[in-house]
Amino acid sequence: MSEAKPIRAREKTEGRDLTYPPLPEPLEVPVYDNHTHLEIEDGESGLDAYEQLDLAERVGVRGVVQVGTDLATSRWSAALAAKDPRVLAAVALHPNEAPRLAERGLLDEHLAGIDELGSQPRVRAVGETGLDFFRTGEDGRASQLESFEAHIEIAKRHGIALQIHDRDAHEAVVDTLLRVGAPERTVFHCYSGDEQLASICAEHGWFMSFAGTVTFKSATNLRSSLRVAPRSLIMVETDAPFLTPMPYRGRPNSAYLIPNTLRYMAMVLDADLNTLSEQIAYNTEQVYGSWDSK
Ligand SMILES: [Zn+2]
Repeated sequence: MSEAKPIRAREKTEGRDLTYPPLPEPLEVPVYDNHTHLEIEDGESGLDAYEQLDLAERVGVRGVVQVGTDLATSRWSAALAAKDPRVLAAVALHPNEAPRLAERGLLDEHLAGIDELGSQPRVRAVGETGLDFFRTGEDGRASQLESFEAHIEIAKRHGIALQIHDRDAHEAVVDTLLRVGAPERTVFHCYSGDEQLASICAEHGWFMSFAGTVTFKSATNLRSSLRVAPRSLIMVETDAPFLTPMPYRGRPNSAYLIPNTLRYMAMVLDADLNTLSEQIAYNTEQVYGSWDSK
């Protein structure tokens, strides 16, 4: 169906393997992918949202949080969530998008659009928002911060979760949350900190969502964070089509690859896979509510 067709495309960088990795062995206890981008097409022939959700379901990934990064993709996400019981939506202007909108004098208008989406019953998070000091330079930081603070307010106003994109900005993100007051349910999407940030998150009850990056060889900080994080605060995500878990790094990612990352996390934690899956599914429903409710 056309409404599930991606509306963005990932760059087909030269030399990258564009074939989707094989389907992993199904999980016995189903979980959720709490951060994915079904709106971004990848792969040789591409998979639409329903194809990806069907594959995910086959391996025990029973639902996803579909995440918007601008007004158009946020509207697309909300519309898909309203139609498909496997999808909840997160809506926001990405931190790298905010300065571009501000420059064109459009930030307030687009924030108002995000606020409006926040009242839809299957829009359960504001995200991804936050701070990105890797891609946005000094000149864009004021509007990035303004946008982040506005998103925090929107999440609180609607009583929904906050999904944070934090790239090279741990301290500033924490400072902002403490200064303006974090929403009750706050998630560090694609957690990228170290043990120190993990203990700050633990102290404030903020959730840490681990992506395929936790399987990357160099990511010792993520594995040590995972080990010190309270089990009640961890979640799993793909950030598909990006950040494909090992050994498929660089190939297209999709929600059906959650079992690969989850099995790896169980190994790092020396935990029983089913017990970990149960805990993570429970945490995810605590943050976003039930996928079954309208
Ligand atoms: Zn993302």
